[in-house]
Amino acid sequence: MKAVVIGGGLGGLAAALRLKARGWDVAVCEANPTLGGKMNRWSRDGLVFDTGPSLITMPHVFRELYEALGERMDDHVSFVRVHPFAEYRFGSGARVVCPAGMDEWRSVVREIEPGDVRGIDRLHEIGRKVYELSARTFFRRSPFSPPSWRELPALRFLPLRGAWGNYARTVEQHVRNPLLRMIYHRYATYVGSSPYCCPATLLVIPYIEQAFGAWHARGGLYSIVESLTRLAAARGVELRTSARVVAIERNRKRATGVLVDDATRIAADAVIMNGDSETMPELVGGKAAIDPASRSMSGVVLLCRRTELPLRAHHTVVFSDNYSAEFEQLMGCRAFPNDPTVYISAPRVSEPSASTGVFVMANAPATAEDWGARELDVAIAGVSRRLRAGGIVLDRADVLDVWYPGRFAQSYFAPFGSIYGANSHGWRNAFFRTPNRSRELRGLYFVGGSSHPGGGTPTVLLSARITADLVDRDARA
Ligand SMILES: Cc1cc2nc3c(=O)[nH]c(=O)nc-3n(C[C@H](O)[C@H](O)[C@H](O)COP(=O)(O)OP(=O)(O)OC[C@H]3O[C@@H](n4cnc5c(N)ncnc54)[C@H](O)[C@@H]3O)c2cc1C
Repeated sequence: MKAVVIGGGLGGLAAALRLKARGWDVAVCEANPTLGGKMNRWSRDGLVFDTGPSLITMPHVFRELYEALGERMDDHVSFVRVHPFAEYRFGSGARVVCPAGMDEWRSVVREIEPGDVRGIDRLHEIGRKVYELSARTFFRRSPFSPPSWRELPALRFLPLRGAWGNYARTVEQHVRNPLLRMIYHRYATYVGSSPYCCPATLLVIPYIEQAFGAWHARGGLYSIVESLTRLAAARGVELRTSARVVAIERNRKRATGVLVDDATRIAADAVIMNGDSETMPELVGGKAAIDPASRSMSGVVLLCRRTELPLRAHHTVVFSDNYSAEFEQLMGCRAFPNDPTVYISAPRVSEPSASTGVFVMANAPATAEDWGARELDVAIAGVSRRLRAGGIVLDRADVLDVWYPGRFAQSYFAPFGSIYGANSHGWRNAFFRTPNRSRELRGLYFVGGSSHPGGGTPTVLLSARITADLVDRDARA
């Protein structure tokens, strides 16, 4: 049996490897010259940068992938626990260091606002229940697949009291302190969404971070892509880079292969779309109609030379003075905020010997507007102003490379430059993402952040497991 994967992002590589391990003949077609998609790397002046993810959660999901391939993860990549998780800086001059470990975090919360300890516990309890339910259901199978009897015990986590409301309102109901509220609100941005618009089920994110830790990979997160690429090549997965798929070929209601931009045709029993699922209509002769308001956020990323910035943690967040106004601009006006919250990842803090640069990021709207030099200057000035307010001086000359919505859109075929596919605003978007098996064309499947169960590296690996299982099961039915 032959499968062709459109896109060599993390999800595409993982699905390809899983199918190969089950005896499939697999080809991966990636439009870019490098594999990894949004999980990528860039270097300049002897410094190496991860240009995409900087934080890994749920390391067991990565471990399970290697085990499914008959490998030990530790033989391929070296995960390092990030401790503390982050230092949060506020306009008032306040600083909060968030340690790994719930007891340690409770002690910090007690010092800030003793009355909020119970509320924080309650938020994590909601997150735990969502996780327990999802781990056995949502994270394991495609929506619309019939549930198995093994999932029944997980249903005891229903009804999830407190999980059905609005995320920000739920946080505010349980937590009084404004700094703690901001810290919890920010977790919704891990999936490119606004805390003011998404459901409280996303409290699973802070729960997951505390329960399973935050992780980095020695040598950078791109080492994960490198190791998967090495495994794929060694096992005979055909890896075609600079190979853009321009059409999915079909025979009546069945996908039969792909046409690559160099006019090569690859016939296949299964076609797996790892690119954004909403661009798929373009590959079958239609036109994609995507509403920018339905997309997750994009970002402005500055890759910086300065390695001696006064940072005490691997991750630093400098909050804007008005978080809700920031999201009003991002979501309501689809504009880059005047006062953005800025995130810094400085892997050198955990790995001093590494030649890694500093990654600086602010949320940006998913937008089709082309940013010119003026828009970039305005964004960089806003980021620098906020950093300076947090005690961090970043010289423009230290900015070696800049990413913005249009560049994300172009580089990864990501509509409006959004990073996590559709946003998680409201129930439909949060729970009903593109199913892993097409309902229009037999033999067509979806994998990755724009499809079920969603974006972010561990979720994308869960998507690869679900999709590879479906492809293999359908072929054997
Ligand atoms: C700046 C940034 C920061 C992030 N931070 C984090 C983080 O800290 N933690 C975390 O877990 N996640 C983070 N993410 C998200 C994470 O990187 C993604 O969710 C994940 O890597 C997506 O993988 P994927 O397989 O879905 O697809 P993608 O990485 O989107 O790959 C899809 C690939 O398909 C290719 N493609 C599309 N159409 C075609 C076509 N027609 N023909 C051929 N190829 C095609 C594209 O070129 C692309 O390479 C971040 C992402 C970015 C950009």
